[in-house]
Amino acid sequence: MSAQFSVAVFNGDGIGPEIMAPTIRLLEKLQRQSNDYSLEFSDVCAGAQLYADTGSAFPDESKLAAKQADAILLSAMGLPSVRYADGTEISPQLDLRIELDLFAGVRPVRIQSDEQTPLKFKQAVDFVLIRESTEGLFHSRGIGNVTADEATETLKITRKTSEKLFKFAFELAGTRMKNQQGPGRVTCVDKANVFRSFAFFRELFDKEAQGHSGIHSDHAYVDATALWMVEKPWVFDVLVTENMFGDILSDLGAGLMGGLGLAPSADIGEQHAVFQPCHGSAPDIAGQNKANPFAMILSAAMMLEWLGQRNNIASMVIDGKRLSDAVYACLSDNNKITADIGGVATTLGASSAVDAALFDDHYE
Ligand code: NAD
Repeated sequence: MSAQFSVAVFNGDGIGPEIMAPTIRLLEKLQRQSNDYSLEFSDVCAGAQLYADTGSAFPDESKLAAKQADAILLSAMGLPSVRYADGTEISPQLDLRIELDLFAGVRPVRIQSDEQTPLKFKQAVDFVLIRESTEGLFHSRGIGNVTADEATETLKITRKTSEKLFKFAFELAGTRMKNQQGPGRVTCVDKANVFRSFAFFRELFDKEAQGHSGIHSDHAYVDATALWMVEKPWVFDVLVTENMFGDILSDLGAGLMGGLGLAPSADIGEQHAVFQPCHGSAPDIAGQNKANPFAMILSAAMMLEWLGQRNNIASMVIDGKRLSDAVYACLSDNNKITADIGGVATTLGASSAVDAALFDDHYE
């Protein structure tokens, strides 16, 4: 019997709807060919444009729909021209992380040919950055203290979230090792030489490491990690870090891959998960059929793998890998990639190329 999954779809702002539509078409085609699973998509409203139109950025019914879904696909939200009275932007994607306790922000960095990377690496790169996504410096979001003379924001690390985060990181390294994707190594990225909060973070990491004797564990300071991500990124397997550090390093990871248009992500908790590209709503190119759909498609591939692993459906995991391989198969041809990564394809042209790589045996 085929397993059914409901997917809440946030089309979002700017280029969001343009990259979501072809992604859903690919998923629909994949599931139509499967005897093991089916996906039911429902559109859910939230975002800056919704706020501008209605005064509400993230209605309660949208939160409920997200909570009830088996998985959530989100494109990008926010428009620099639409802001709350305090000057901050509308960002329901950050609210979702808190609402659903999505503590592990999973940011894969995979480079297989040297054409897309500005650094022309001679070796393949394949590591995952896990960004804690509910606390750290982002704990202070909306509650920072600003007077006429100074501003303070507080960084928070809790035992409860860190323990879940580190367990997730070691389990991911174990899965990657089993799949021959990594050597089985987790690196805690911190600033424990300066801050007590990070010494605490590291202590909790070391405690979790003791329970995973088959996985190697080590530490790196965040500044050195930034250097090594450029100098020798192939040495990493799984990196785990605080929210703000992860925010910055994941954009560095995207830069290594050749741009945000190639950087997928998943925000994962114990019950829920949101899959979305690392990039924003790119209002400067919205509505022009220029947006790169690959990060969105790669995020959807991560969703298939996550649902498949969680529900023991091997063919769903395989479909996720097929979908991401189809994207990577397009990267070496300028006619199949968009301008942001050096190509000439439109959004629809690039997604058609992925479709052909996935479904057409004779496609070259
Ligand atoms: P951005 O990622 O939207 O754009 C940065 C640059 O990258 C732009 O030049 C844009 O054209 C380009 N770009 C991004 N995605 C692309 C794609 N798929 N294809 C081709 N080019 C792409 O970042 P920004 O300009 O700082 O932010 C724009 C809006 O998005 C803001 O309102 C911001 O708050 C929001 N934002 C949302 C998220 C999210 O939803 N997760 C993340 C970051 C920013």
